[in-house]
Amino acid sequence: MDIKSFEFYAEKPGPSVLILGAIHGNEKCGSKAAENLIAEIESGKLKLECGSVTFIPICNPKAYAANQRYIDVNLNRVIKRHDNPAHYEEKLANQIAPIIAAHDFTLDLHSIHSKGSSFAFLDFPHKDAKGVCAVLGVETIITGWPDMYEDTDDATTLSFAHEAGRASVTVECGQHDEPEAVNVAYEAISNTLKYFGIFAGQAQPTQHCRVVQAKHRVVKEGEGILGDGTINNIQHMRAVKKDEKIAEYNNGNIVKSPEDGVILIPFKEAQIGDEWFYVGTLQTEKSV
Ligand SMILES: [Zn+2]
Repeated sequence: MDIKSFEFYAEKPGPSVLILGAIHGNEKCGSKAAENLIAEIESGKLKLECGSVTFIPICNPKAYAANQRYIDVNLNRVIKRHDNPAHYEEKLANQIAPIIAAHDFTLDLHSIHSKGSSFAFLDFPHKDAKGVCAVLGVETIITGWPDMYEDTDDATTLSFAHEAGRASVTVECGQHDEPEAVNVAYEAISNTLKYFGIFAGQAQPTQHCRVVQAKHRVVKEGEGILGDGTINNIQHMRAVKKDEKIAEYNNGNIVKSPEDGVILIPFKEAQIGDEWFYVGTLQTEKSV
């Protein structure tokens, strides 16, 4: 199965923006929002003022059809050029990477496994990436992610865009099957295109935008439970104190918070070896 892209150009030259959906096959909110916007542009309801926008609504078609995260390997760990692609996702990366490199800005739309508000990853603080984060419509911006993964050579849409000298932002639009996630994705795309002047209208700064610096990555090393085992106890963005218990292994070992901060993206169903949760610190209540 091949990927399909949809490109729209205004008469007036301007910035080029790329919108990616379903890099992970079971994260479909970005695909649906992109399809809605494509239909609205094609019908004439929405018009481009300048520049261009390219949509790839479904970046991993086989995984999308199977409603699973990936087929062979996680596509968002292999976004680079592969001379001898061995896996399905490496072949997809060879198609997607040059398209990212050819655009001024890439917006990559995802969803997550746990409930909680939407958020964006600002991995590389390029001027336009910061500008987009301020108007996306999501209340939490997470920075510092690449520093937690310094020991890996993972290649993400964000790291590849950065290496290509381009700006990019990833948005987690909500829980996988929440209908609201499609609206979050739609607003994120629309506000990004307004920021660049591709769509008419002013993108408004997001109210109460918080910036969290992610600092600690905790991998599940054995059987155990988060908090008291209920998802309500350990939620995304819940405040924690230094040395507060966050998880407990079946052997009785306690996992404590390394500092005062907030819990990020707790994964109740994490398997051994998966990231269990992260801890970050709140940077500001003001805009990005
Ligand atoms: Zn994802």
